Formats: sequence, C-alpha cells, structure tokens
Amino acid sequence: MVEQKHLINGKWMPSLDGETIDVVSPSDGIVFAKLARGKKGDIDLAVGAARKAVSSGSWAKLTAVDRGRLLSRLGQKVLDNFEELAALEAKDTGKPLMQAKADITAAARYFEYYGGAADKVHGDTIPFMDGYMVSILREPHGVTGHIIPWNYPAQMYGRSLAPALAMGNAVVLKPAEEACMTSIRMSELAMDVGFPEGAINIITGLGEEAGASLSEHPDINFLSFTGSPEVGTIVQTAAAKNHVGCVLELGGKSPQIIFEDADIESALPVVVNAIVQNGGQTCSAGSRLMLQKSVYDKYLELIADKFKELKVGSHEMDLNCGPLISTVQKERVEGFLDRANSDGIKVVAEGTIAKGVPEGGYYVKPTLFADVPRDNSLACDEVFGPVLSAIPFDDESDAVHLANATEYGLVTGVWTRDGARQIRMAKNVKAGQIYVNAYGAGGGIELPFGGVKKSGHGREKGFEALYEFCSTKTIVFKHD
Ligand code: NAP
Ligand code: MG
Repeated sequence: MVEQKHLINGKWMPSLDGETIDVVSPSDGIVFAKLARGKKGDIDLAVGAARKAVSSGSWAKLTAVDRGRLLSRLGQKVLDNFEELAALEAKDTGKPLMQAKADITAAARYFEYYGGAADKVHGDTIPFMDGYMVSILREPHGVTGHIIPWNYPAQMYGRSLAPALAMGNAVVLKPAEEACMTSIRMSELAMDVGFPEGAINIITGLGEEAGASLSEHPDINFLSFTGSPEVGTIVQTAAAKNHVGCVLELGGKSPQIIFEDADIESALPVVVNAIVQNGGQTCSAGSRLMLQKSVYDKYLELIADKFKELKVGSHEMDLNCGPLISTVQKERVEGFLDRANSDGIKVVAEGTIAKGVPEGGYYVKPTLFADVPRDNSLACDEVFGPVLSAIPFDDESDAVHLANATEYGLVTGVWTRDGARQIRMAKNVKAGQIYVNAYGAGGGIELPFGGVKKSGHGREKGFEALYEFCSTKTIVFKHD
C-alpha cells in the first residue's frame, strides 16, 4: 500500500515519530493508502525550511517572471497528468469522475492564471509634498500557512497556494486528512518542474495536531484557511495571538432567489446543479431555494421533477452525486434529515441511490424540502449535503430580508428578467458574489471570491487574492 510522506525542504520524509493515518475511499470505505501523521515537530521543520527559502534560499532570489514561469509550468504539468489526477481525486473524495475532471482543470487554471499574473502586480507612486517622491512596494509576507478542506482538495490546492507563490511567499500546506492525495501528487509535480527547495512544503495530519501547530506557529506571517466557522475561529484566534493576518472562507447558506418573471427553463438545471454539485459539499452550494409565492407551487413541482431524476453512486459510476466524504459527514447530514422529519417538514422529492453501489460507502439521497419555516435550522444552518430547502417569499423587499436573514453571506443567485430589480437585488443582498440569471458554485478562477458575515473575510481568486498575500511598504524619498 502507498505510504505518503511530508514534503519538507524539497525532500519527502515520514513523520518524526513514524505515525500514519489511513486513507479511505468514501465510495466503499476501503483503506487504499496511508498518510504521514504530522505534528508540531514536523510543522517546525517545514516552517524552518520555508523561512530559509524566503530569506536566503534560491526561491528568494527568483524574479517575478521566473516565479510565474514555474507556476505556468506546474499548470501545464497538471494538464499533462490530467487523467491520473482526476482518477485519484475521484477515488479520494468519492466525487463523480466528471466532477473530478472539472476540478483538475480548475486546479491547472489557478497555476496558469497566477503564473501569468506574477509579474503584473505593480507598486505605486504617490504625489506628495514638494521635494519628495513616494513609492509603494508590494512585498511578500514571507512564510504563509495554508489549511484547506476535503471538499475540493485539488482546486483548493491551486486556489490557496498559487497566489501566495506568485507573490514570492514560501508556503506550508496542511491539507485535510480526509482527502489530500492530489495535494501530495501536485507537490511532486511542482518538484518535477523545478520549484526550489523550501518554496512548497506540505505536512499531512490531523487538524488538532498539524493544523493547530501550523496556525499557532510564531514564525508564520500570514494564514489562509477554508473550512468550518468553528475551526475558522480557532485559526483566527491563533493568528491574532501572533498578530498576523488571515483570510478565512467559512461556507454559507446561499440563496437562489427565483422571481415570478424568471426564465424558469434556464434556471431549472442551474438551480438543481448548484445544490447537487459535489453532493452539496460546497461552501457556495445554493442550499436555500427562495420562490416567489405567486409561482411557488408551479416552480416547486418543476424542481421536484428534476430532483426525482437524480442518481447517487460511486465515483466510478459517475452519476449526479457521489457519496459524502466520511461517516461523520453522513451522520451529520442524516441528523439534519431526522430533525427536519421530527419538525414535520415536508419532503417533496428525493433522488435515488443507484443499484450496485459498493457496500461501505457513505451514500445519502438528495432531498428537497418544501415550506421550510424561516427560523428552522434547515433554513439557517449549513448542511453540507445534497439538501435543498424551499421557502416562499412575497415580494422584492421580503426577498432581500429573507436572503439576508442568515449569519452567512457568501454567494447569491437572483433569477428575474427585470433589469432594475436585478441591480437593486445585487446591491441590497449581502454576499461576496451575486449571480444574476446564473449561478457559479465553485467556478470562476478570475472572479474575486469570499464572504461577508460568518462566511469569512478576505478574498481569494482573481487578482484580489494577490493583494492578500503581500503587504505594502511606503518609501519616502526627499530629493531637495
Ligand atoms: P474543518 O474541521 O473546519 O476542517 C477544515 C480544515 O481545518 C481541515 O484541514 C482540518 O484538518 C483543519 N482543522 C481542523 N481542526 C483544526 C484546528 N483545531 N486547527 C487548525 N486546523 C484545523 O471542516 P470539516 O470538519 O472537514 O467539516 C465540518 C463542516 O465545515 C462541514 O460540515 C461544513 O459545514 C464546513 N466546511 C466548509 C467548507 C468550505 O469550503 N467553506 C469546507 C469543508 C467544510 P482535518 O480535517 O485533517 O482534521
Ligand atoms: Mg479519502
């Protein structure tokens, strides 16, 4: 069985204490690899290697052009190994192979995008008093720590690391122990294309051990975290104790708002996919279906028909949904379903689990609930499963009120043909991204992405992510 190691200073090594963790495929619950179980000592070594890389190592000496070239080469290398990476991602996460392929394409795009951007982040000059010139430099933070989740591991690897590397930081990554095989494989590819030692370090292990040690480490200059709000609080507290910044992406309860004048035929597949993609285990899943009362019954029936067609199966069966990531996640989602049932909330449609799915996998049926009370947990809390909650609304002002009524604010979809309403909704709903007559769960490398409220702060993706991974230095020259 494959035994994966940590990447520290360009070398692959086991944990200092030799401990390992089993890697399971969610499709059948069978162990197919082992990971090194990193702890504080391993994190210390990785942070030390990264520090050396940004202070005296060859990484520090590379120009922005050369950093960009390395990133672009890694993007190409990911594409060269596309089929292998997609199959590995599918097996590790359980997601349907088609989804895994889309994820690998996106991972490559992150390296291409930030490869091209590396030499285009300019400083500024500022008009100041007579006899002075002021310039602003954008400098890397130094060593950045990255903690990523299991839902889109390959994409998250690109999304979190590529902008940090483009700006010249050296990175230490702690991927999620449930799914990190492609993070390891892409780090091997990074070594193949010539990233200098210490620029990319990866320590696998548990959140409470390796993750906590990384976020508390006094020699980390900036943290990037994607995951649950609870752990986000722990990471942000650790960052505060060291007085370093962090970008947090903590999920959502994103509404898909359908007005009576919507082009429902266009909306239907998009709205269903927004919750079914990746089995609903998507931070930006469109998990609240807000339907205007005048069309509620009619549109709900159309969406229910689509839900009934949904099929769940193993990653290899490549159906609409794969299994959930783990037994813990399955039990968590089933807990929501049980509570909804005991609260008397009506199930209007369910998908089916395909015949012949392997035993031991973590399968859950996609479920559409109707008339979900606005204060019920299903309407407010992130389920992180294929569960869609339909809620009626009266008019535009009620729609804005309801859209803003959760603690989250990540993504919103608005479906209406009324141009003025599109603009008002886009302005009045509190979220990091608004889609009008579209929905972009997870997509768009070029588009700044992140939350407001409990969904987190800071921005990933697009050019904005580059500004998270640098700080400005103001230099004042007196020349007279
Ligand atoms: P999580 O616990 O927040 O895990 C995210 C990452 O943080 C993983 O790499 C995890 O490591 C690490 N971690 C855990 N405890 C830590 C600690 N004390 N210090 C530093 N790092 C730590 O998320 P989860 O348990 O996988 O999922 C729970 C819920 O989080 C989900 O149901 C969902 O609501 C939400 N979630 C949101 C997103 C998103 O994209 N916004 C993604 C995943 C989950 P290990 O997993 O290896 O222990
Ligand atoms: Mg796994």
